[in-house]
Formats: sequence, structure tokens, C-alpha cells
Amino acid sequence: MGYRFPSPIARDRTNGKPSRPMSSVITRFAPSPTGPLHLGHAHAALFAWQAACDQGGRFLVRIENIDRQRCRPAFESEILEDLAWLGLDWVRPIRRQSEHFSDYQSALDQLIALGVVYPCRCSRKDIAAATRAPHLEFESRKRDRDDNQGDEGLPYPGTCRPSAPSSSRPPVALDAPLALRLDVARALALTGPLVWFDRAAGCQQATPERLGDVVLARKDSPTSYHLSFTVDDALQGVTLVTRGTDLFHATHTHRLLQALLSLPTPEYHHHPLLTDAQGRRLSKRDGALALRTLRETGYTPAMVRAAASMLVASGLP
Ligand SMILES: [Zn+2]
Repeated sequence: MGYRFPSPIARDRTNGKPSRPMSSVITRFAPSPTGPLHLGHAHAALFAWQAACDQGGRFLVRIENIDRQRCRPAFESEILEDLAWLGLDWVRPIRRQSEHFSDYQSALDQLIALGVVYPCRCSRKDIAAATRAPHLEFESRKRDRDDNQGDEGLPYPGTCRPSAPSSSRPPVALDAPLALRLDVARALALTGPLVWFDRAAGCQQATPERLGDVVLARKDSPTSYHLSFTVDDALQGVTLVTRGTDLFHATHTHRLLQALLSLPTPEYHHHPLLTDAQGRRLSKRDGALALRTLRETGYTPAMVRAAASMLVASGLP
């Protein structure tokens, strides 16, 4: 089984624009320029593009490059070239996270003012030692860090969470702690119960405690995946977030951040990830399935779109 991704080029167009009336649906594809796009990325990009096109909406591209050590401008150029080769078109200009750190800082300041942020001095090693509990195996923890999505290697055990009420907490500064974390319990006490809607899974009661007190900023990075992702989707007016089911639990956290920051809540559609024949999700290690490699070995955009529409990458034509 798979999805049907018709040729983007075959769309009805009038003066280069879709002939159907524009709707308010806005989707986006948000790759990290840490390597070349592979078939799994094509699947995600086509899914978002299709969701916009089906409703005469708009498709955006966002470059998620807050990790300035691992992201490379050269990969960004390649990604855009690959997407264009695939036949996709998007609204210009694209948004690059590295150009918007002030937006994330402003959101962080709002959260600090609400008293739902606390400094954490734990190293990843400290957290790993404190959380050796096999039953707490969340999908997000298994996420391939190659994709730069999510910085929560392990759920935080709450070692540094203050017991004092927020009003009596000292001011939060980033110079000493390694990270600033979201106090999920305190935040939920402010917002009350929250819900969000997934087109595949239906209405969801938000349970941000699943990922726990996520990092909002690190000493070496003034924002985090969760914070920048939530802020960007709101600032770009994204109305439908499409992404892999590996990020389903992260959406609970993002819903909480939206409520705290008074941001609108988009609809979601978490879709299955493309896997290899053994059922493993594709990663940048699967160099053979890089769009660039497929292109160089003679695959046409139509063939790659057909392959990307499958849920198992063994379906290469
Ligand atoms: Zn800590």
C-alpha cells in the first residue's frame, strides 16, 4: 500500500498558478541541511505537497538549520535542487531558521516570564544514568539524530526541576546552566487540558508529559527543535502539519507550547515512514537511495515519485 503522488507538472495551471481557487491550507516540508535528501524525504515532501495541492493550498519549504555545526549551505542548495528536480514548487522566499533566532528568543522570554522554564545542569551522561528504565522507550528517543529533529535523547528525570512555586524562583540565566527546560507540570497547570487533531488518528488529548521537560535552549544553541519548530509553524501560518509518525509524541509537547505562547494550533497528519525492505526507517546512511544518486543512475522524476509513494523503498521501478 502507498500514497498516490501524481505528477506535479501535470497540474492545471493558469498563468503559472493552480487553476483551482486558493484555499487557506498551508503545508510545509522542513528538511535539515545535514546531508542529501533520500527517498524517505521525497515521501515526506510529496505528502505535504499533495495535501496542499488537493485543497488548492500553498506548500512552503523551511530549512531547519539551527544546528550550525552540522548544517551546511551546500546541502541546502542540493536539497532545493533535488526538490525542484522532483517537480515540486514552493512559495518564495523560503524560511531559514538561522535567520530568525530573535523570534525564538522572544518566545523563550515569554515562557520564562510565565515561570515555566528552569535551568538544568545535567549532562547527557547524567540523564542517561538516571533514566535506565527500559519500559520508558519512546519512539522519539530512537530517532536518528541525523535528521536533527528532537534533541531529547532520553526523557529528563527532573533532577533540576525546582520545587518552589514559579513566583519565588530566581531569574533564569543561560550562562551557568547547560540547558533551559520546560516545566511541563507547571505549564499544564497554567493551560489546563489541551487537545489537538490528527487527520489519521483523530482527536488527541495532549499528554506532553510523555516527552517530559524538554530542552528549550542550550548553552551552545539559543533555541531547540521543539521551540523553533512550534514558533516557525505559527509564524509561517502553517495550517496542516504533515510529518512522520515518529514525531507523534512531540506534537503533544508542541501543543503545550502553542497554548503557552498563544499561538494557533494547526491540524496534523502523521504519516507512516518509508522503510527499507527489512522494515527499518530510511536514514542518510542509505546513500543508494539518495535522490541525487537515483538521478545519476538514470531514474526520472516520475520514477522516483512512484517509488516515494510506496511505504517500502523496495518498490523502486
Ligand atoms: Zn538537570
